Amino acid sequence: MNITSLLSPNFTQGRRTYRPEAIVIHIMDGTLKGTDSWFLSPLSQVSAHYGVGKSGEVHQYVEEIDTAWHAGRIHDPTWPLIKKTSDGQYINPNYYTIGIEHEGNEMSEWTDTMYATSAELIRKMCQRWSIPADRLHIIGHHEIYSLKNCPGFKVDLDKLIALVNGSTQAVNGQISKTEKFGKVTTLTRLNLRAGPGKVYKITNMVNAGIQLAYDGFTMQGETVNGNGKWYYTEEGNWFWSGGVK
Ligand SMILES: [Zn+2]
Repeated sequence: MNITSLLSPNFTQGRRTYRPEAIVIHIMDGTLKGTDSWFLSPLSQVSAHYGVGKSGEVHQYVEEIDTAWHAGRIHDPTWPLIKKTSDGQYINPNYYTIGIEHEGNEMSEWTDTMYATSAELIRKMCQRWSIPADRLHIIGHHEIYSLKNCPGFKVDLDKLIALVNGSTQAVNGQISKTEKFGKVTTLTRLNLRAGPGKVYKITNMVNAGIQLAYDGFTMQGETVNGNGKWYYTEEGNWFWSGGVK
């Protein structure tokens, strides 16, 4: 992954006594370029650790060991893990979260590339900081600050998390494969991919009604429409079982 460093003056060095325990997903309400200049200006007094563009660009504005200024305001939070001091005061969530901005606005569709890139970035963060990749630890900004719709109406956080987990299993070689030869027929035009999930690169495309031979399958691929079974071919390509019969 190619990360461009564009360090912002808007951050607090270190994290007091805290460390990253959760990841906050934001939408830029604008372009990556506009966000670059906004975060690089000391006048804005805001930042995030990363910005992800629609074409998969990744810009880093603040180091993960430092505190970015992305989720410091709290209003009617719905996030169950929000921290309070013993006397009931909210602790600034910036100290214990990593913030990722995404290109677009609250009504724009996320590209597959932006999903895949963000998932890869999050997966590495989860590994670095031992953050569980689940819905409690990967949250939308509005779960802290309910006056905002950030990250908008189009992003599917469950899908993002599934991509994070799909890749983690495959990268660590933890998916269990069952070797079993067979043949199936494609129901629709179907993508073959480098791994068992939509996060993986498309390696080939086959039309409907084509017979495909497989060498085996896993039940631990990305869950699509409730189905996580993916076949693999002799060449090491993968395809989703829901697209064949
Ligand atoms: Zn936000």
